[in-house]
Amino acid sequence: MTPPGPDALPPNAMLGVLGGGQLGRMFALAAHRLGFRVAVYSDDEDPPAGAVVDHHVRGDYADLDAVEDFARQVDVVTFEFENVPATTAEAAARHAPVRPDGSLLHAAQDRIREKRALRSLGLPVAKFAEIRSADDVVAAQLAVPGAGIVKTATSGYDGKGQRRVADASELHAAWSQVGAHPAVVESLVPFEREISVVGARGLDGEIALYEPFENSHVDQILDVTRWPARVTTETRNAALEVARSVLLGFDVVGVLCVEMFVLAGGDVIVNEIAPRPHNSGHLTIDAHVTSQFEQQARAVAGLPLGSVDAVAPAAAMANLLGDLWARGEPDWSRALCEPGLHLHLYAKREARPGRKMGHMTVSGSDAEELVDRLHTVRREIVPDD
Ligand code: AMP
Repeated sequence: MTPPGPDALPPNAMLGVLGGGQLGRMFALAAHRLGFRVAVYSDDEDPPAGAVVDHHVRGDYADLDAVEDFARQVDVVTFEFENVPATTAEAAARHAPVRPDGSLLHAAQDRIREKRALRSLGLPVAKFAEIRSADDVVAAQLAVPGAGIVKTATSGYDGKGQRRVADASELHAAWSQVGAHPAVVESLVPFEREISVVGARGLDGEIALYEPFENSHVDQILDVTRWPARVTTETRNAALEVARSVLLGFDVVGVLCVEMFVLAGGDVIVNEIAPRPHNSGHLTIDAHVTSQFEQQARAVAGLPLGSVDAVAPAAAMANLLGDLWARGEPDWSRALCEPGLHLHLYAKREARPGRKMGHMTVSGSDAEELVDRLHTVRREIVPDD
C-alpha cells in the first residue's frame, strides 16, 4: 500500500458533495467511517443525505454565489449526480478542487458529447446519429435505418426521455414525443446481457476496477445486479479495459461507472458513463472489502484506494422501487429475518412508482440462488390485499 501523498486530506477534513440523494447519503456514511466530515449542497429541502451529513446547504444549482460560498467551506468537492450544470462545477472549482473535474461531468450529462467523447477514445458505441433540429431527421433516418432508440441529449435517466422506434419511418414522431429537444437516435443493440464496470482512480493515478457486474432492467430501470457477471475472460478483460480507458481519457480522480452491452459473440458496446458511484455497485457495500463509496471518499481525499476484492464468491442486489409501497409499508421484518440479507433504505418520505427507495443485497457462493432469494423476499415483503 502506498502511504497517503502530500495532498491527502487529514481526518476531519470536510468533503463537499453536490447533490443530496441516496448516492450522497451512502457516500457520507462511508466518508464518516474514515473520519471525514461531509457537507452536501442540494436543492431539496429534505434530501436523503440530509440526515447523515454534518452540514446541509439548501440552494439552487444555478445560484453560483451560494455554490461558491459552499465551496469555500469544504476541502474538496465531488458530486453524486450528473445533472449539476457545468457552470456550477466551475464556480465550485474557484475555491476547492472538484474531483472528478468538470470535464467528465460535462461529457456525461449530454448524450451527444458523451458519444463523441467515447468514440474519440476509440471505444465501441452503438451506431448513432444526432438530431438537433427537424432538419437532421432525414440524415438520421439514413444513418440508423432499422430499429432504434431516440434519447434526449440531456436530462434523461432511467429510461426517461426515450422512445423506441421499429424503423426509421417512426423517427420523426418519436423525436417529437421526446419533446423535439436535441437528441440522439442509436440503433437497438441485440445484446445478450448488460454489464457495468465501476472503477476508481486516485490522485496519484492508481486505478482500481471492480470485476464486472451483470444488470437486469425492468422498464429501463435497474432491477437486479448479480456479481460476478456471466462473461468470458475475454469479455471481462475488454470491459475492464474500457473502464480504464475512460478513467485515463478523462484524467479522472474519483469513481465512475461504465455501462456496457455484451453481444452474443462476447464483444462489448458502451452504453453510457456515470461520473460517480452507480446503482450496480451498491452491492460492494456488503460484498467487497472496500465499497464504491469508500473508494470515492479515498480517491477525492487523495488517499490510497482500497482493495476491490470481494468477501464472498458471489453477491446480488435487488432494488426496492416505490411501486412496492402501493399497498402500504412493506413488511420489513420479512427481509430482516432472511439470513445474511442486508437491507438499505434511503429514508425518502414519499414512495412513488419508479422511485428508488432502497435496495437489498445478499452474498454467498451461487449468484443464481442469491438472485432467486432476493426475488422471493421482495415478493413477500409486499403486504397482502
Ligand atoms: P439508458 O438510459 O441509456 O441507460 O438506457 C436504459 C436501458 O435501456 C438500458 O440499460 C438498456 O436496457 C436499454 N437500452 C438503452 N439503449 C439501448 C440500445 N441502444 N439498444 C438496446 N437497449 C438499449
